Amino acid sequence: MNQTRSQQLFEQAQRYIPGGVNSPVRSFRAVTGTPPFIARGQGSHVWDVDGNEYIDYLGSWGPLVLGHAHPTVVEALHRAAEGGTSFGAPVELEVELARTICEALPSVDSVRLVSSGTEACMSAIRLARAYTGRSKVIKFSGCYHGHADGLLVRAGSGAMTHGIPTSAGVPDAYGAETLVADYNDIASVESFFQAWPEAIAGVIVEPVAGNMGVVPPAEGFLQSLRQVTADNGAMLIFDEVITGFRIAYGGAQTLYGITPDITCLGKIIGGGLPVGAYGGRRDIMEMVAPLGPMYQAGTLSGNPLAVTAGLTTLTELQKAGTYEKLESLATRLADGITQAFAQAEVPATLNRVGSMMTGFLNAGPVDVLAQVEQSNTEAYGRYFHAMLERGVYLAPSQFEAGFVSLAHSEEDIDRTVAIAAEALGSLG
Ligand SMILES: *Cc1c(COP(=O)(O)O)cnc(C)c1O
Repeated sequence: MNQTRSQQLFEQAQRYIPGGVNSPVRSFRAVTGTPPFIARGQGSHVWDVDGNEYIDYLGSWGPLVLGHAHPTVVEALHRAAEGGTSFGAPVELEVELARTICEALPSVDSVRLVSSGTEACMSAIRLARAYTGRSKVIKFSGCYHGHADGLLVRAGSGAMTHGIPTSAGVPDAYGAETLVADYNDIASVESFFQAWPEAIAGVIVEPVAGNMGVVPPAEGFLQSLRQVTADNGAMLIFDEVITGFRIAYGGAQTLYGITPDITCLGKIIGGGLPVGAYGGRRDIMEMVAPLGPMYQAGTLSGNPLAVTAGLTTLTELQKAGTYEKLESLATRLADGITQAFAQAEVPATLNRVGSMMTGFLNAGPVDVLAQVEQSNTEAYGRYFHAMLERGVYLAPSQFEAGFVSLAHSEEDIDRTVAIAAEALGSLG
């Protein structure tokens, strides 16, 4: 694989940008090598600056459920850009996006748009604290909720991949307000509520974990979280930044039939542009300025370009058969890859919910973080490169999700499975 131009660019990048990347997960540290610099994307494919073509399962880490450069999104963006890119004053389309989100998510009466998932989660935590008047928050080891100080405690993939479970620069006092429980272990949550019955503002959870690789919620886990938070006057915060509009139009809360108090969104609702959101029950959202005492603001929040991409994406997702198609493509891929692992006699476990999945190089089961960590990351690195060289772009870390989009064809999937069989065969 020719990487001449990418290598030149990566050298320059490292001179001007820490590690050469604007987000650490892009750096290929976990799998070694030079990240291809991407020149363009179309549908399910991307091309790098050296002309190599890949079938893409990264999907920009989740947002691109319609694939790259979807013609309707691009057309809408052209029109929006011509009318001006930011006003710092209300625009009609942000109301449309907010209404669309409220109509999609039964638990959300009112929603505030922000510019990233990080901002959404950071604000949701502040809101839970403002509403309850309490300060402690429970999160789960291996779940990621963006890089706000209090949430960077055992924060999953990026941090896990780089051996930084908890970030430097986070004051101990913040860390002390964050209680870290075990995903899929309700007893670990209950014991915190027993220790601090009146001090816990809320529990934040990825309803389907995606940032330690995909780990679905155990039977009854989300229901128990709903119960224990309600019993203790704490907020249940669903971080649906990945799962919202991904595993069902109405997100995990619709799929599993749970009503959280606050929901965080991002990724898909921006259709590839920077958008996040947090929303919930009306009486909770009335805490937010200018209605209430919890301050949160943003110069580019509700930005016309970003809301255009988001709204166009959600409108496309409303078309009949969308989620059936995603499910059928994802099943085809998961079945094919599972078979390829089996034929190559590589111990592996494929976890999937809808169009998000991870193949763990681990005999399994992979239901909790301790099992995730048993995966063979060295073998994953070799598998990753064997796939990349053959034209399939997977996440450059074992602890991440891969995403199928509506732009993937059955041909793409079948080709990917054939490539996986060959790649696995080459590992020896
Ligand atoms: C990506 C992600 C975030 C952070 O979103 P950014 O837009 O990267 O700030 C938060 N929570 C979850 C579950 C995510 O996957």
